Amino acid sequence: MEQITPENMDETSITLVSKVNIPATYCPKCKLLLPEGAGEKQCISCGAKVIVKLPSLENEWEKERVACPKCSKVLIAGVNKRPCKLKCSSCNQKFTLTKKIMKIEICCPKCERKLRIKRSPGEKIIKCPACEMDVKIKC
Ligand SMILES: [Zn+2]
Ligand SMILES: [Zn+2]
Ligand SMILES: [Zn+2]
Repeated sequence: MEQITPENMDETSITLVSKVNIPATYCPKCKLLLPEGAGEKQCISCGAKVIVKLPSLENEWEKERVACPKCSKVLIAGVNKRPCKLKCSSCNQKFTLTKKIMKIEICCPKCERKLRIKRSPGEKIIKCPACEMDVKIKC
């Protein structure tokens, strides 16, 4: 019988999630949420092209401390983007560090239950799990 030990697990399957918050950026024209991250972004509401610069986010990503999933040694990421692949300097464990998923909280207009959804631009409709009302959200 084959024994499955952590050593013969696929080394790329270990994923940690970054703890750095990604700031929300808004379109200067229509004030709605832009697609996440830095670089040239196109507003999905009005089509404006916006150059987003997030030097502090890149700085925080670069100096983020993360504990090795195998030996718990605290490492400094040293990479200013996410996702990135890292290797522990002490036990050589490889793992992937992905960006944090940013959530927003809204209240159902009918039953006032708090709903947490992934922050992303554009209009969407979600069903409230409590009262089954379709709630329209525009970020
Ligand atoms: Zn816009
Ligand atoms: Zn390690
Ligand atoms: Zn509801």
